[in-house]
Amino acid sequence: MTEKRIVVFAPHPDDETLGCGGTLVKRLKEGFEVWIVVLTRGQNLMAVVFDIHDSPNPDQVCEIRREETRQATKILGVPLENLICWDYDDGALDARAEDVLEQVLGILREKKPGEVYCTNQYEGHPDHRAASSVVRQACALHDSPVKLYEYIVGLKHGTSVDDIEEPIEEIDISAELSMKREAVKVFKSHLDVLSDAQPHPVFSDDDVASFLQPFESFVVTAHGSLNSKAVCQNRHRAGCR
Ligand SMILES: [Zn+2]
Repeated sequence: MTEKRIVVFAPHPDDETLGCGGTLVKRLKEGFEVWIVVLTRGQNLMAVVFDIHDSPNPDQVCEIRREETRQATKILGVPLENLICWDYDDGALDARAEDVLEQVLGILREKKPGEVYCTNQYEGHPDHRAASSVVRQACALHDSPVKLYEYIVGLKHGTSVDDIEEPIEEIDISAELSMKREAVKVFKSHLDVLSDAQPHPVFSDDDVASFLQPFESFVVTAHGSLNSKAVCQNRHRAGCR
């Protein structure tokens, strides 16, 4: 295990910045090396949200979003060569779970991270839940100790952090917030309109505000080390199963 190495798994190009961008800046300052793996092409954003299939078409949407993530990760301070984009179809992660698991395990074996970041099981987007499930399994199967940080992007409609059963760890990012704000600004695909047929941007002002809090919240689980016992005990104390 390389304690000061992080691998972030992002279901779509932007989740890494929105969910844990401030924490990544903080960890980089602490001397961590950060790798980001974007699992899907994110190509169906306009089709799913606005039923827009052309101008931009899905391939164009994919390229726009990947370029945004390249810019954002550069602002956060992650070298571009540490950004890996896989080609799973947006919306189809669950159907490819076995393949994703193999690939995630491959990355864990290769990079031997001390910390892994991914979305959580309470998220609204099915890809976010599928990624959570796969990365949890991979961390449990991986033969080195690893601490899993499950970040929050968008919980299921009508639910809040209070509905999460596990204890939440909040990481103070007030010193990193201005940098996260700069990184979030590059996601024009969500902050502006990409098409004349689009009635409004993907993000509301409230969405943007929720990503720019002075802290980021995580469900943290230690796998394969003495710490996992402590986390289990905490979970029992909190009445979790
Ligand atoms: Zn996403």
